Amino acid sequence: MSQLPLHHLFHPDHADHYADSIGSGLDHLLSHLKGVAGPATGRQPDEAAARVAAVDLDEPLDGVDAVLAEMSELWLDDAVWFHETRYAAHLNCPVVVPALLAELFVASVNSSLDTFDQSVGGTFIERRLVEWTAERIGFGATADGVFTSGGSQSNLQGLLLARGRVERTPAERLRIFASAESHFSVQKSARLLGLGDESVISVPTDERHRLDAVALERSLAACTAMGLRPMAIVATAGTTDFGAIDPLPAIADLARVYDAWFHVDAAYGGGLLVSPTRRSRLEGIDRADSVTVDYHKTFFQPVSSSAIIVRDRATLRPATWHADYLNPRDSATPNQVDKSLQTTRRFDALKLWMTLRTMGPDLIGQYVDAVADLALAVHAQMREEPDLEFVAAPELSTLVFRYVPTDLALDGPALATLNTTIRAELYATGTAMVAATRVDGVQYLKLTLLNPMATAHDIVGILDTVRAFGARIAHGGVLASATIGATR
Ligand SMILES: *Cc1c(COP(=O)(O)O)cnc(C)c1O
Repeated sequence: MSQLPLHHLFHPDHADHYADSIGSGLDHLLSHLKGVAGPATGRQPDEAAARVAAVDLDEPLDGVDAVLAEMSELWLDDAVWFHETRYAAHLNCPVVVPALLAELFVASVNSSLDTFDQSVGGTFIERRLVEWTAERIGFGATADGVFTSGGSQSNLQGLLLARGRVERTPAERLRIFASAESHFSVQKSARLLGLGDESVISVPTDERHRLDAVALERSLAACTAMGLRPMAIVATAGTTDFGAIDPLPAIADLARVYDAWFHVDAAYGGGLLVSPTRRSRLEGIDRADSVTVDYHKTFFQPVSSSAIIVRDRATLRPATWHADYLNPRDSATPNQVDKSLQTTRRFDALKLWMTLRTMGPDLIGQYVDAVADLALAVHAQMREEPDLEFVAAPELSTLVFRYVPTDLALDGPALATLNTTIRAELYATGTAMVAATRVDGVQYLKLTLLNPMATAHDIVGILDTVRAFGARIAHGGVLASATIGATR
Protein backbone atom coordinates (compact mmCIF):
# COMPACT_ATOMS: atom_id res chain seq x y z
CA MET A 1 0.00 0.00 0.00
CA SER A 2 1.18 3.48 -0.82
CA GLN A 3 2.71 5.46 2.03
CA LEU A 4 2.25 8.67 0.08
CA PRO A 5 0.55 11.24 2.37
CA LEU A 6 -2.45 12.29 0.32
CA HIS A 7 -4.40 14.29 2.89
CA HIS A 8 -3.12 17.55 1.37
CA LEU A 9 -5.34 16.97 -1.63
CA PHE A 10 -8.91 18.31 -1.59
CA HIS A 11 -11.13 15.24 -1.29
CA PRO A 12 -14.14 14.13 0.79
CA ASP A 13 -11.89 11.65 2.65
CA HIS A 14 -9.75 14.60 3.73
CA ALA A 15 -12.64 16.86 4.69
CA ASP A 16 -11.50 17.02 8.31
CA HIS A 17 -8.02 18.13 7.31
CA TYR A 18 -9.53 20.71 4.95
CA ALA A 19 -11.86 22.03 7.65
CA ASP A 20 -9.03 22.21 10.22
CA SER A 21 -6.75 23.97 7.80
CA ILE A 22 -9.32 26.51 6.59
CA GLY A 23 -10.50 26.95 10.20
CA SER A 24 -6.95 27.70 11.38
CA GLY A 25 -6.57 30.12 8.51
CA LEU A 26 -9.83 31.89 9.33
CA ASP A 27 -8.88 32.22 13.01
CA HIS A 28 -5.47 33.53 12.04
CA LEU A 29 -6.94 36.04 9.61
CA LEU A 30 -9.61 37.27 12.02
CA SER A 31 -7.23 37.72 14.95
CA HIS A 32 -4.86 39.60 12.65
CA LEU A 33 -7.65 41.71 11.17
CA LYS A 34 -8.83 42.82 14.61
CA GLY A 35 -5.31 44.01 15.39
CA VAL A 36 -4.83 46.07 12.23
CA ALA A 37 -3.93 49.58 13.32
CA GLY A 38 -3.48 51.39 10.05
CA PRO A 39 -3.19 51.04 6.29
CA ALA A 40 0.49 50.01 6.35
CA THR A 41 3.36 49.27 8.68
CA GLY A 42 5.96 51.10 6.62
CA ARG A 43 8.17 48.08 5.88
CA GLN A 44 10.85 49.06 3.40
CA PRO A 45 11.76 46.98 0.32
CA ASP A 46 15.22 45.76 1.37
CA GLU A 47 13.95 44.42 4.66
CA ALA A 48 10.91 42.79 3.03
CA ALA A 49 13.19 41.24 0.40
CA ALA A 50 15.66 39.93 2.99
CA ARG A 51 12.94 38.16 4.94
CA VAL A 52 11.64 36.37 1.88
CA ALA A 53 15.14 35.54 0.63
CA ALA A 54 16.00 33.87 3.95
CA VAL A 55 13.41 31.12 3.45
CA ASP A 56 14.69 27.70 2.37
CA LEU A 57 12.02 26.55 -0.06
CA ASP A 58 13.38 23.01 -0.11
CA GLU A 59 12.77 22.58 3.65
CA PRO A 60 9.04 22.62 4.42
CA LEU A 61 7.78 23.69 7.85
CA ASP A 62 6.05 21.44 10.33
CA GLY A 63 2.29 22.02 10.26
CA VAL A 64 -0.21 24.68 9.31
CA ASP A 65 0.45 26.93 12.31
CA ALA A 66 4.12 27.25 11.44
CA VAL A 67 3.25 28.00 7.83
CA LEU A 68 0.71 30.64 8.86
CA ALA A 69 3.21 32.21 11.25
CA GLU A 70 5.90 32.42 8.59
CA MET A 71 3.43 33.76 6.02
CA SER A 72 2.49 36.52 8.45
CA GLU A 73 6.09 37.49 9.02
CA LEU A 74 6.79 37.63 5.31
CA TRP A 75 3.61 39.35 4.17
CA LEU A 76 0.45 39.58 6.24
CA ASP A 77 1.95 41.59 9.10
CA ASP A 78 2.97 44.28 6.62
CA ALA A 79 0.01 43.96 4.27
CA VAL A 80 -1.48 47.18 2.96
CA TRP A 81 -5.16 47.28 3.88
CA PHE A 82 -7.61 48.80 1.45
CA HIS A 83 -10.43 48.82 3.99
CA GLU A 84 -8.53 51.29 6.16
CA THR A 85 -9.98 54.78 5.82
CA ARG A 86 -6.44 56.21 5.70
CA TYR A 87 -5.66 54.19 2.60
CA ALA A 88 -6.30 56.51 -0.35
CA ALA A 89 -3.52 55.65 -2.78
CA HIS A 90 -4.30 53.50 -5.81
CA LEU A 91 -7.48 52.20 -7.44
CA ASN A 92 -8.00 49.49 -4.82
CA CYS A 93 -11.33 48.97 -3.12
CA PRO A 94 -12.34 47.34 0.11
CA VAL A 95 -13.93 44.03 -0.91
CA VAL A 96 -17.43 42.80 -0.14
CA VAL A 97 -17.99 39.70 1.99
CA PRO A 98 -20.31 37.83 -0.45
CA ALA A 99 -17.44 37.84 -2.96
CA LEU A 100 -15.04 36.47 -0.34
CA LEU A 101 -17.49 33.70 0.44
CA ALA A 102 -17.55 32.94 -3.27
CA GLU A 103 -13.72 32.86 -3.34
CA LEU A 104 -13.74 29.87 -1.01
CA PHE A 105 -15.81 27.95 -3.54
CA VAL A 106 -13.99 29.31 -6.58
CA ALA A 107 -10.64 28.15 -5.21
CA SER A 108 -11.75 24.88 -3.65
CA VAL A 109 -13.90 23.56 -6.49
CA ASN A 110 -11.47 25.05 -9.02
CA SER A 111 -13.82 25.01 -12.02
CA SER A 112 -12.13 26.21 -15.15
CA LEU A 113 -14.28 28.39 -17.35
CA ASP A 114 -12.66 27.50 -20.65
CA THR A 115 -15.13 24.78 -21.61
CA PHE A 116 -18.61 23.73 -20.55
CA ASP A 117 -17.33 20.27 -19.57
CA GLN A 118 -15.03 21.88 -16.96
CA SER A 119 -17.58 24.30 -15.51
CA VAL A 120 -21.17 23.34 -16.47
CA GLY A 121 -23.40 25.84 -14.59
CA GLY A 122 -20.44 28.20 -14.24
CA THR A 123 -20.44 28.81 -17.99
CA PHE A 124 -24.01 30.09 -17.74
CA ILE A 125 -23.46 32.13 -14.60
CA GLU A 126 -20.66 33.96 -16.42
CA ARG A 127 -22.84 34.37 -19.51
CA ARG A 128 -25.72 35.81 -17.49
CA LEU A 129 -23.37 38.36 -15.90
CA VAL A 130 -22.02 39.32 -19.30
CA GLU A 131 -25.60 39.78 -20.54
CA TRP A 132 -26.49 41.72 -17.42
CA THR A 133 -23.54 44.06 -17.82
CA ALA A 134 -24.33 44.44 -21.54
CA GLU A 135 -27.91 45.41 -20.68
CA ARG A 136 -26.64 48.00 -18.20
CA ILE A 137 -24.43 49.40 -20.97
CA GLY A 138 -27.46 49.53 -23.26
CA PHE A 139 -26.34 46.92 -25.77
CA GLY A 140 -28.94 44.80 -27.53
CA ALA A 141 -29.47 41.06 -28.01
CA THR A 142 -26.32 40.58 -30.12
CA ALA A 143 -24.04 41.61 -27.26
CA ASP A 144 -21.53 39.23 -25.75
CA GLY A 145 -18.21 39.22 -23.93
CA VAL A 146 -16.12 37.38 -21.42
CA PHE A 147 -14.52 37.82 -18.02
CA THR A 148 -10.82 38.71 -18.04
CA SER A 149 -7.98 39.10 -15.56
CA GLY A 150 -8.24 42.89 -15.49
CA GLY A 151 -8.65 46.12 -17.41
CA SER A 152 -5.30 45.75 -19.13
CA GLN A 153 -6.32 42.42 -20.63
CA SER A 154 -9.79 43.74 -21.49
CA ASN A 155 -8.24 46.69 -23.32
CA LEU A 156 -5.86 44.37 -25.14
CA GLN A 157 -8.74 42.19 -26.27
CA GLY A 158 -10.80 45.22 -27.35
CA LEU A 159 -7.91 46.36 -29.52
CA LEU A 160 -7.33 42.84 -30.85
CA LEU A 161 -10.95 42.82 -32.04
CA ALA A 162 -10.42 46.24 -33.60
CA ARG A 163 -7.34 44.85 -35.38
CA GLY A 164 -9.38 41.90 -36.61
CA ARG A 165 -11.84 44.23 -38.28
CA VAL A 166 -9.10 45.66 -40.53
CA GLU A 167 -6.96 42.55 -40.78
CA ARG A 168 -5.99 43.13 -44.40
CA THR A 169 -4.56 46.60 -43.69
CA PRO A 170 -0.81 46.50 -43.07
CA ALA A 171 0.17 47.26 -39.46
CA GLU A 172 2.20 50.34 -40.35
CA ARG A 173 -0.89 52.10 -41.74
CA LEU A 174 -3.00 51.58 -38.64
CA ARG A 175 -3.53 54.20 -35.95
CA ILE A 176 -5.19 54.09 -32.52
CA PHE A 177 -6.49 57.35 -31.08
CA ALA A 178 -6.62 57.81 -27.32
CA SER A 179 -6.39 60.78 -25.02
CA ALA A 180 -3.06 61.79 -23.53
CA GLU A 181 -4.52 60.70 -20.17
CA SER A 182 -5.67 57.25 -21.30
CA HIS A 183 -4.32 54.17 -19.53
CA PHE A 184 -0.84 52.92 -20.51
CA SER A 185 -2.31 49.50 -21.35
CA VAL A 186 -3.43 51.07 -24.65
CA GLN A 187 0.23 51.63 -25.58
CA LYS A 188 1.23 48.18 -24.34
CA SER A 189 -1.58 46.59 -26.33
CA ALA A 190 -0.37 48.34 -29.47
CA ARG A 191 3.06 46.84 -28.86
CA LEU A 192 1.65 43.39 -28.25
CA LEU A 193 -0.39 43.62 -31.45
CA GLY A 194 2.77 44.45 -33.39
CA LEU A 195 1.59 47.93 -34.27
CA GLY A 196 4.45 49.79 -32.59
CA ASP A 197 4.51 52.73 -30.22
CA GLU A 198 4.01 55.24 -33.02
CA SER A 199 0.62 53.72 -33.87
CA VAL A 200 -0.98 55.34 -30.81
CA ILE A 201 -1.93 58.95 -31.46
CA SER A 202 -2.11 60.90 -28.23
CA VAL A 203 -5.05 63.32 -28.38
CA PRO A 204 -4.91 66.43 -26.14
CA THR A 205 -7.33 66.83 -23.26
CA ASP A 206 -9.40 69.82 -22.17
CA GLU A 207 -9.21 71.70 -18.85
CA ARG A 208 -11.22 68.92 -17.20
CA HIS A 209 -8.78 66.27 -18.49
CA ARG A 210 -11.29 64.87 -20.99
CA LEU A 211 -10.34 64.00 -24.54
CA ASP A 212 -10.76 67.08 -26.73
CA ALA A 213 -13.14 65.95 -29.48
CA VAL A 214 -12.20 68.87 -31.77
CA ALA A 215 -8.53 67.89 -31.54
CA LEU A 216 -9.52 64.26 -32.18
CA GLU A 217 -11.37 65.22 -35.34
CA ARG A 218 -8.41 67.25 -36.57
CA SER A 219 -6.09 64.36 -35.86
CA LEU A 220 -8.35 61.84 -37.57
CA ALA A 221 -8.60 64.07 -40.63
CA ALA A 222 -4.84 64.62 -40.78
CA CYS A 223 -4.06 60.91 -40.48
CA THR A 224 -6.63 59.96 -43.09
CA ALA A 225 -5.23 62.58 -45.47
CA MET A 226 -1.81 60.92 -45.06
CA GLY A 227 -3.27 57.56 -46.11
CA LEU A 228 -3.32 56.16 -42.58
CA ARG A 229 -6.25 54.09 -41.36
CA PRO A 230 -7.93 54.92 -38.02
CA MET A 231 -8.22 51.43 -36.52
CA ALA A 232 -9.70 52.34 -33.17
CA ILE A 233 -10.65 55.24 -30.96
CA VAL A 234 -10.29 54.58 -27.25
CA ALA A 235 -12.42 56.71 -24.95
CA THR A 236 -11.74 56.58 -21.24
CA ALA A 237 -14.71 56.63 -18.86
CA GLY A 238 -12.87 57.50 -15.69
CA THR A 239 -9.19 58.32 -16.19
CA THR A 240 -6.83 56.89 -13.62
CA ASP A 241 -5.63 60.24 -12.29
CA PHE A 242 -8.64 62.54 -12.60
CA GLY A 243 -11.59 60.20 -13.11
CA ALA A 244 -12.39 62.21 -16.22
CA ILE A 245 -15.02 60.84 -18.57
CA ASP A 246 -14.32 61.53 -22.23
CA PRO A 247 -17.20 62.95 -24.34
CA LEU A 248 -18.59 59.58 -25.43
CA PRO A 249 -21.35 60.80 -27.82
CA ALA A 250 -18.99 63.08 -29.77
CA ILE A 251 -16.38 60.32 -29.99
CA ALA A 252 -19.03 57.82 -31.10
CA ASP A 253 -19.99 60.22 -33.92
CA LEU A 254 -16.37 60.49 -35.05
CA ALA A 255 -15.85 56.73 -34.87
CA ARG A 256 -18.80 56.32 -37.22
CA VAL A 257 -17.62 58.98 -39.68
CA TYR A 258 -14.08 57.57 -39.79
CA ASP A 259 -15.19 53.94 -39.69
CA ALA A 260 -13.08 53.25 -36.61
CA TRP A 261 -13.69 50.73 -33.82
CA PHE A 262 -14.97 52.51 -30.71
CA HIS A 263 -13.61 51.09 -27.46
CA VAL A 264 -14.61 52.54 -24.09
CA ASP A 265 -12.21 51.90 -21.23
CA ALA A 266 -14.57 52.06 -18.25
CA ALA A 267 -12.20 50.16 -15.96
CA TYR A 268 -12.68 52.83 -13.31
CA GLY A 269 -15.98 54.45 -14.32
CA GLY A 270 -17.79 51.14 -14.88
CA GLY A 271 -19.33 51.32 -11.42
CA LEU A 272 -21.45 54.22 -12.69
CA LEU A 273 -23.47 51.60 -14.60
CA VAL A 274 -25.20 50.77 -11.29
CA SER A 275 -25.20 54.26 -9.75
CA PRO A 276 -28.72 55.39 -8.84
CA THR A 277 -27.82 59.05 -9.48
CA ARG A 278 -24.88 59.16 -11.91
CA ARG A 279 -25.62 56.63 -14.66
CA SER A 280 -26.16 59.52 -17.10
CA ARG A 281 -22.45 60.36 -16.87
CA LEU A 282 -21.90 57.35 -19.16
CA GLU A 283 -24.30 58.57 -21.83
CA GLY A 284 -23.13 57.31 -25.21
CA ILE A 285 -21.40 54.18 -23.87
CA ASP A 286 -24.09 52.10 -25.62
CA ARG A 287 -22.61 53.24 -28.95
CA ALA A 288 -19.28 51.52 -28.24
CA ASP A 289 -18.11 48.42 -30.08
CA SER A 290 -16.39 47.17 -26.94
CA VAL A 291 -16.30 48.18 -23.29
CA THR A 292 -13.85 47.38 -20.48
CA VAL A 293 -15.35 47.08 -17.00
CA ASP A 294 -13.22 46.34 -13.91
CA TYR A 295 -15.44 44.83 -11.25
CA HIS A 296 -12.35 44.75 -9.03
CA LYS A 297 -12.36 48.54 -8.93
CA THR A 298 -15.84 50.02 -8.63
CA PHE A 299 -17.91 46.89 -7.96
CA PHE A 300 -15.87 46.17 -4.78
CA GLN A 301 -14.75 42.73 -5.97
CA PRO A 302 -11.50 40.99 -5.03
CA VAL A 303 -8.81 40.85 -7.73
CA SER A 304 -9.23 39.51 -10.38
CA SER A 305 -12.58 40.45 -11.81
CA SER A 306 -12.99 42.29 -15.09
CA ALA A 307 -14.80 41.86 -18.39
CA ILE A 308 -14.71 42.88 -22.01
CA ILE A 309 -18.23 43.40 -23.35
CA VAL A 310 -18.91 43.73 -27.08
CA ARG A 311 -21.91 45.05 -28.95
CA ASP A 312 -21.84 42.30 -31.59
CA ARG A 313 -20.73 38.80 -30.73
CA ALA A 314 -19.53 38.19 -34.28
CA THR A 315 -16.67 40.61 -33.60
CA LEU A 316 -15.19 38.24 -31.00
CA ARG A 317 -13.88 36.02 -33.80
CA PRO A 318 -10.21 37.09 -33.53
CA ALA A 319 -10.18 35.55 -30.03
CA THR A 320 -11.44 32.22 -31.32
CA TRP A 321 -9.25 29.18 -31.99
CA HIS A 322 -10.48 25.63 -32.22
CA ALA A 323 -8.31 22.91 -30.69
CA ASP A 324 -9.29 19.30 -31.33
CA TYR A 325 -8.67 18.28 -27.72
CA LEU A 326 -10.60 21.19 -26.16
CA ASN A 327 -13.14 23.06 -28.22
CA PRO A 328 -13.40 21.49 -31.68
CA ARG A 329 -15.28 23.41 -34.34
CA ASP A 330 -18.15 20.91 -34.15
CA SER A 331 -18.32 20.95 -30.33
CA ALA A 332 -21.87 20.37 -29.14
CA THR A 333 -21.37 22.44 -25.96
CA PRO A 334 -20.91 26.18 -25.35
CA ASN A 335 -17.27 26.98 -24.60
CA GLN A 336 -16.20 30.31 -23.15
CA VAL A 337 -12.62 29.76 -24.37
CA ASP A 338 -13.93 30.56 -27.85
CA LYS A 339 -14.15 34.20 -26.68
CA SER A 340 -11.17 34.44 -24.35
CA LEU A 341 -7.46 35.19 -24.60
CA GLN A 342 -6.93 32.86 -21.64
CA THR A 343 -7.44 29.10 -21.69
CA THR A 344 -7.60 27.77 -18.13
CA ARG A 345 -9.50 30.52 -16.36
CA ARG A 346 -10.76 31.12 -12.83
CA PHE A 347 -14.49 31.25 -12.13
CA ASP A 348 -14.22 34.90 -11.04
CA ALA A 349 -17.79 35.48 -12.18
CA LEU A 350 -19.11 33.63 -9.13
CA LYS A 351 -17.88 36.48 -6.90
CA LEU A 352 -19.94 39.09 -8.72
CA TRP A 353 -22.87 36.68 -8.92
CA MET A 354 -22.99 36.07 -5.18
CA THR A 355 -22.48 39.78 -4.59
CA LEU A 356 -25.47 40.70 -6.74
CA ARG A 357 -27.60 37.92 -5.25
CA THR A 358 -26.77 39.10 -1.73
CA MET A 359 -26.65 42.89 -2.07
CA GLY A 360 -28.35 43.72 -5.36
CA PRO A 361 -26.94 46.21 -7.85
CA ASP A 362 -28.42 49.37 -6.30
CA LEU A 363 -26.40 49.02 -3.14
CA ILE A 364 -23.18 48.65 -5.14
CA GLY A 365 -24.19 51.80 -7.00
CA GLN A 366 -24.83 53.59 -3.73
CA TYR A 367 -21.28 52.71 -2.66
CA VAL A 368 -20.03 54.29 -5.90
CA ASP A 369 -22.12 57.38 -5.23
CA ALA A 370 -20.79 57.53 -1.69
CA VAL A 371 -17.16 57.76 -2.79
CA ALA A 372 -17.97 60.27 -5.53
CA ASP A 373 -19.89 62.40 -3.01
CA LEU A 374 -17.00 62.08 -0.58
CA ALA A 375 -14.53 63.47 -3.12
CA LEU A 376 -16.84 66.44 -3.77
CA ALA A 377 -17.32 67.11 -0.06
CA VAL A 378 -13.60 67.03 0.72
CA HIS A 379 -12.80 69.27 -2.23
CA ALA A 380 -15.49 71.76 -1.20
CA GLN A 381 -14.17 71.84 2.34
CA MET A 382 -10.46 72.12 1.53
CA ARG A 383 -10.18 73.92 -1.82
CA GLU A 384 -9.70 77.35 -0.25
CA GLU A 385 -6.93 76.24 2.12
CA PRO A 386 -3.94 78.38 1.12
CA ASP A 387 -1.34 75.65 1.58
CA LEU A 388 -3.17 73.05 -0.54
CA GLU A 389 -3.23 73.36 -4.29
CA PHE A 390 -5.85 71.21 -6.06
CA VAL A 391 -5.40 70.69 -9.79
CA ALA A 392 -9.08 70.20 -10.56
CA ALA A 393 -12.47 69.55 -9.05
CA PRO A 394 -13.14 65.80 -8.73
CA GLU A 395 -14.83 64.11 -11.70
CA LEU A 396 -15.24 60.73 -10.02
CA SER A 397 -13.44 59.97 -6.76
CA THR A 398 -9.87 61.23 -7.00
CA LEU A 399 -8.23 64.43 -5.79
CA VAL A 400 -4.91 65.55 -7.27
CA PHE A 401 -3.16 68.15 -5.14
CA ARG A 402 0.12 69.28 -3.62
CA TYR A 403 1.20 70.87 -0.40
CA VAL A 404 2.61 74.36 -0.84
CA PRO A 405 3.82 76.03 2.38
CA THR A 406 2.68 79.64 2.62
CA ASP A 407 5.55 80.83 4.77
CA LEU A 408 8.42 79.62 2.56
CA ALA A 409 9.16 80.42 -1.05
CA LEU A 410 10.04 77.09 -2.66
CA ASP A 411 10.86 76.54 -6.32
CA GLY A 412 9.37 73.72 -8.40
CA PRO A 413 12.03 71.08 -7.68
CA ALA A 414 11.87 71.85 -3.93
CA LEU A 415 8.10 71.51 -3.92
CA ALA A 416 8.41 68.22 -5.78
CA THR A 417 10.92 66.91 -3.24
CA LEU A 418 8.79 68.17 -0.37
CA ASN A 419 5.66 66.41 -1.60
CA THR A 420 7.51 63.20 -2.47
CA THR A 421 9.05 63.21 1.00
CA ILE A 422 5.66 63.76 2.65
CA ARG A 423 4.30 60.71 0.81
CA ALA A 424 7.28 58.55 1.76
CA GLU A 425 6.95 59.58 5.42
CA LEU A 426 3.22 58.88 5.48
CA TYR A 427 4.05 55.35 4.36
CA ALA A 428 7.12 54.90 6.58
CA THR A 429 5.17 55.91 9.68
CA GLY A 430 2.13 53.89 8.66
CA THR A 431 -0.01 57.00 9.10
CA ALA A 432 -1.72 57.09 5.72
CA MET A 433 -1.19 56.08 2.13
CA VAL A 434 -1.54 58.49 -0.78
CA ALA A 435 -0.44 58.15 -4.40
CA ALA A 436 1.73 60.41 -6.51
CA THR A 437 1.47 61.54 -10.09
CA ARG A 438 2.77 64.22 -12.43
CA VAL A 439 0.66 66.70 -14.34
CA ASP A 440 2.47 68.53 -17.15
CA GLY A 441 5.74 67.58 -15.52
CA VAL A 442 4.76 68.94 -12.09
CA GLN A 443 4.83 66.55 -9.12
CA TYR A 444 1.54 66.11 -7.27
CA LEU A 445 0.01 63.80 -4.70
CA LYS A 446 -3.24 61.98 -5.31
CA LEU A 447 -6.05 60.64 -3.17
CA THR A 448 -8.06 57.84 -4.75
CA LEU A 449 -11.25 57.40 -2.75
CA LEU A 450 -12.89 54.00 -3.14
CA ASN A 451 -13.87 53.31 0.44
CA PRO A 452 -17.56 53.95 1.18
CA MET A 453 -16.76 53.61 4.89
CA ALA A 454 -14.50 56.67 4.82
CA THR A 455 -16.00 59.98 5.92
CA ALA A 456 -15.06 63.53 4.98
CA HIS A 457 -13.59 63.78 8.47
CA ASP A 458 -11.26 60.84 7.69
CA ILE A 459 -10.09 62.25 4.39
CA VAL A 460 -9.68 65.79 5.67
CA GLY A 461 -7.63 64.11 8.40
CA ILE A 462 -5.27 62.72 5.75
CA LEU A 463 -4.93 66.18 4.19
CA ASP A 464 -4.28 67.74 7.61
CA THR A 465 -1.60 65.12 8.24
CA VAL A 466 -0.05 65.96 4.86
CA ARG A 467 0.06 69.62 5.92
CA ALA A 468 1.52 68.83 9.33
CA PHE A 469 4.18 66.55 7.87
CA GLY A 470 4.82 69.11 5.13
CA ALA A 471 5.33 71.97 7.55
CA ARG A 472 7.67 69.90 9.70
CA ILE A 473 9.70 68.63 6.75
CA ALA A 474 9.90 72.05 5.09
CA HIS A 475 11.15 73.68 8.29
CA GLY A 476 13.26 70.75 9.43
CA GLY A 477 16.03 71.20 6.91
CA VAL A 478 15.29 67.93 5.16
CA LEU A 479 15.17 69.79 1.89
CA ALA A 480 18.46 70.94 0.43
CA SER A 481 18.97 74.42 1.80
CA ALA A 482 19.95 75.64 -1.67
CA THR A 483 16.42 75.17 -2.92
CA ILE A 484 14.83 77.08 -0.07
CA GLY A 485 14.49 80.78 -0.56
CA ALA A 486 14.08 80.56 -4.30
CA THR A 487 10.82 82.03 -5.49
CA ARG A 488 8.29 79.78 -7.10
C1 LIG B 1 -6.89 50.36 -13.66
C2 LIG B 1 -7.11 50.78 -15.06
C3 LIG B 1 -6.80 49.93 -16.12
C4 LIG B 1 -6.07 48.63 -15.93
O1 LIG B 1 -6.83 47.70 -15.26
P1 LIG B 1 -6.15 46.48 -14.48
O2 LIG B 1 -7.31 45.77 -13.93
O3 LIG B 1 -5.26 47.09 -13.45
O4 LIG B 1 -5.37 45.70 -15.48
C5 LIG B 1 -7.15 50.32 -17.40
N1 LIG B 1 -7.73 51.52 -17.62
C6 LIG B 1 -8.01 52.38 -16.62
C7 LIG B 1 -8.65 53.69 -16.94
C8 LIG B 1 -7.69 52.05 -15.30
O5 LIG B 1 -7.94 52.91 -14.30
